[in-house]
Formats: sequence, C-alpha cells, structure tokens
Amino acid sequence: MIPFNKPYMTGKETEYIKEAVISGKISGDGVFTKKCNEFFEKELGFKKVLLTTSCTDALEMAAILIDLQPDDEVIMPSYTFVSTANAFVLRGAKLVFADSNADNPNLDADKIEALITPKTKAIVPVHYAGIACDMGKIMELAEKHNLYVIEDAAQAIDSFYVMPDGTKKPLGTIGHLAAFSFHETKNIISGEGGMLAINDERFVKRAEIIREKGTNRSSFFRGEVDKYGWVDVGSSFLPSDIIAAFLYAQLENMDAIQAQRRQIWQRYWDGLSPLVQQGKLRLPYLPDFATNNAHMFYIITKDLTERTALIAALKKENIHPVFHYLSLHTSPFYADKHDGRALPESDFYTDTLVRLPLYFELSEEQQTRVISEIVKFYN
Ligand SMILES: *Cc1c(COP(=O)(O)O)cnc(C)c1O
Repeated sequence: MIPFNKPYMTGKETEYIKEAVISGKISGDGVFTKKCNEFFEKELGFKKVLLTTSCTDALEMAAILIDLQPDDEVIMPSYTFVSTANAFVLRGAKLVFADSNADNPNLDADKIEALITPKTKAIVPVHYAGIACDMGKIMELAEKHNLYVIEDAAQAIDSFYVMPDGTKKPLGTIGHLAAFSFHETKNIISGEGGMLAINDERFVKRAEIIREKGTNRSSFFRGEVDKYGWVDVGSSFLPSDIIAAFLYAQLENMDAIQAQRRQIWQRYWDGLSPLVQQGKLRLPYLPDFATNNAHMFYIITKDLTERTALIAALKKENIHPVFHYLSLHTSPFYADKHDGRALPESDFYTDTLVRLPLYFELSEEQQTRVISEIVKFYN
C-alpha cells in the first residue's frame, strides 16, 4: 500500500519529549519552545514568532489582533482550507473570495483591487503547495488601501518570495502577520501544532497577551510587571513544551527532510513531464518569484470525470492519491453568504487537482510504480 502521507520521525522526538518530561516543566513556553523560537528567529530570519497549538489558532490570533469589527470584509481565495475562513468568520467578518490564478491555485493578485471596498480590512493570501502568492503586488495594494496582510503560510515553511532584485524573503515574513502549520501532513510536523509569525512590531505585545488567555503573564515572567492579571480578550493558544520538544527534533533535521522531499518532487516532475508534452495533464506551475519547498506534488486532470477515473485506477493498485479543497463559496455553510460571483478557476481546481503520495520514506521503487501507473492510465 502506498498511502498519501506517512508522518516522518527523525528519531530524536521521543528523546526530547523525555527530556522535557524529566525537566518537570511541560506547560507552554518551556525550554524546547525557546529552542524552537530561536531556530526561527536566528536561523530562518523571522522577527518574532509564537508557537501555537495549530495554524488554525494562529489565524484566530491574527483575526483578533487586527481588531476585526462585525461586517468588516476580508479578501481570501475560495480554494483554501476552512481554517483560513473560519478564523475571520468567528469574529463576524464578511468573506470576499478572490478567484484563483489560471496557472496555479493561488489567489489572482490582479483580481483583488476590484474587490476592495471601504469595509475591507485585510487580505489573506494562501501560499498553496508552498508556492508564493504574488506578494509584491499584494503588499503594494495593501499599502495603497491601508489593509493588513495575513499570510496563510500553513504549507510554506522553507519557501521564499523572490524579490525583483533577486533577494529571497521567507514566506511568512512579508505580511503583517503569518500563520504556519506543523500538522502531521506538512513538511515539518509535531502532530498538531502551529506558529504565528509577527512581522509588524506593533502586534508583539498584544499577541503575547491574547495567547495567554488575555493576561500579561509573559511580561510578568520577564519581570516587566510585578503581578499579572486580565488585560484583554484572549484564549489558550500556546502548546505544551512536549509538543515543542517533538517539533525541535524536526527543525534540527529540516535540511535533510527538505532535501529528501525535493528529490521526490523532482522525480515526479521528471517522470510525468512526458505526459505534459503529450497534452494529457498539467503539473505545478511556479512563477518566477516563487521557490519550491516540495510540500506537495499535484497534477491537474482534464475534468472531474477523468480525475475520478484516475484516482479509482490508482486505488486499485493500492496507491492512494487524494483530491483537495472544495471551493468555500459553494460550501453548505457559506454558499448563501457569498456575494454570488462565479469563481470558475477555484471550481476548476476543486474538480481537477490530485495530490500524489509525497513523504520522506516513499522509496524510489514505490515512486516509480506511482509514475508508471499514471502513465499507464493516460496511455
Ligand atoms: C493545514 C492548513 C491549515 C490548518 O492547519 P492546522 O495546523 O491543522 O490548524 C490552514 N490553512 C492551510 C492552507 C493548510 O494547508
């Protein structure tokens, strides 16, 4: 059986978890949380990060931080995970969906400006498959219209936006705020887990408070105040240090994990490219300003019928590819709240995108089998 995903353990996870347990401090912001923070801030160039229990939680924190008022509008793609949307709906915001690009599922930056109204408060680009949205255009629009940008960088660890002058900026360091996921289906994992990256210093102090149930407990532990109390709204968004211990084992091995994933990604690309030349299917499109973090390898079939047949054919061979999002603007929960615009590209990816098995331990032999079954299907 070749599953869609298999979480990879580096071998150090249980050792670090044991260390955390023996240290006697297993609540949030312990030794391993600090090690993870340092890794992101010192090695990867993030300004300020806060671990959370999920990307969903980080998005919810972002929605609180930008002080959304009921009926404020938030622009995001319809082709995304429900958490991108839920975080803002929970605060009473109205979602305004932008359609995807014709050449990749990211929101089409050229379609955003027409959606901006006096009520628009934020744009939420989702870096689908870890491939950058057009952050140059998006940040320019945000500045022009005085909007916040919150990157849904759930899939985007170790991926970059390439500036016109060639310098690379890590995804998640460009918008005002960004949310990452360490769910077991992502590149770097902790079972469930996430992180809020704070790029605009104005949010740092309040983010710490919101994450600690609306108290100034973090300042108290730094000795900045002599007692702590309830100063704002908030919730319990911080993970146990046991989770951080697991995560740290992964971060230490990020380069090896990424090298392996990139190799697998490239093998799919090389093996399936002949089918593209024959006009049978499409492979991921990377704009010039994007890098590849090998989060996902997807193919685009002709239509829903073909995709259904392909998935069935592969399942018969014990290979388990999966389709992905169902457009949120047609979902049972949001269809009657959507403004009614057609979003044909989003619907197209809903019907035609298939994700292939991609995980650290996928062997070359297994992968060759996946590729040859796909080739067989198309011939
Ligand atoms: C995985 C994912 C999320 C949710 O992450 P959790 O850590 O499971 O909350 C949100 N947005 C996108 C685009 C994702 O891929």
